[in-house]
Amino acid sequence: MVRDFSNDTALLSLNTATVSAQWTLEQCIDGCVRHCIGGIAPWRDKLDECGAVRAARLIREAGLRVTGLCRGGMFPAATPAGRQAAFDDNRRAVDDAATIGAECLILVVGGLPEGSKDIAGARMQVRDGIAALLEHARAAGMPLAIEPLHPMYAADRACVNTLQQANDLCDALAPDADGGLGVAIDVYHVWWDPELKVEICRAGEAGRILGFHVCDWLVPTADLLLDRGMMGDGVIDIRKIRGGVEAAGYGGASEVEIFSKENWWRRDADEVLETCIARHQTVV
Ligand code: ZN
Repeated sequence: MVRDFSNDTALLSLNTATVSAQWTLEQCIDGCVRHCIGGIAPWRDKLDECGAVRAARLIREAGLRVTGLCRGGMFPAATPAGRQAAFDDNRRAVDDAATIGAECLILVVGGLPEGSKDIAGARMQVRDGIAALLEHARAAGMPLAIEPLHPMYAADRACVNTLQQANDLCDALAPDADGGLGVAIDVYHVWWDPELKVEICRAGEAGRILGFHVCDWLVPTADLLLDRGMMGDGVIDIRKIRGGVEAAGYGGASEVEIFSKENWWRRDADEVLETCIARHQTVV
């Protein structure tokens, strides 16, 4: 198949969350081909519906790169059995990521175990969980990308909340910086951070920027999880951050990841993709 990359949509990737209410993974793959979007990043619910082996074939036939699999992580748990279950699930995530040829497995590391107020302890569990998973991931040739999440998610989704924390984890667990462990930089989570520029440079120097996710921060934000904005509709200087990650050596795609229950999930998915492409050209 001859693809038309006359514009820069080759460096655009569709995270399936962006149209998760409208499309299956098969439809997302077809949509990327129709709109000449170069990459895709499935969430595991969509991947499981399709089946990893079948998805791998469809993605390969479509000529798409897989900029990441979302997601592994959720390491902290109240009991050893809970931690073991998380580890087993993460091993499967690594294997599925390898099956579909993903460039990395995204780690949303998890928050406080149920009933806990010990965030330092949760962060220790995250560190131990990544260390344990890293062995399996290295054997599978699958880089792990720690995605720091905005601090409003520290309790229930991720207690790694700044790029500095993620870089510190990389330094501690993979000091040789061989590409097996890195970071995913999502503008939604890190745009507010006064240390962002310094930490992007730090991650770049170690060759650790494995992913770049884009959307926008709406003012006001109506829902903490499901009200992300389309690029250009909010307050993030996305182009400036993209310039920073590219200056730091990142040459990968910009992955559009928009959770938007009341707006973009209600629209025609082809219209959503067209808007993503237009905004990618003007504000990303
Ligand atoms: Zn993200």
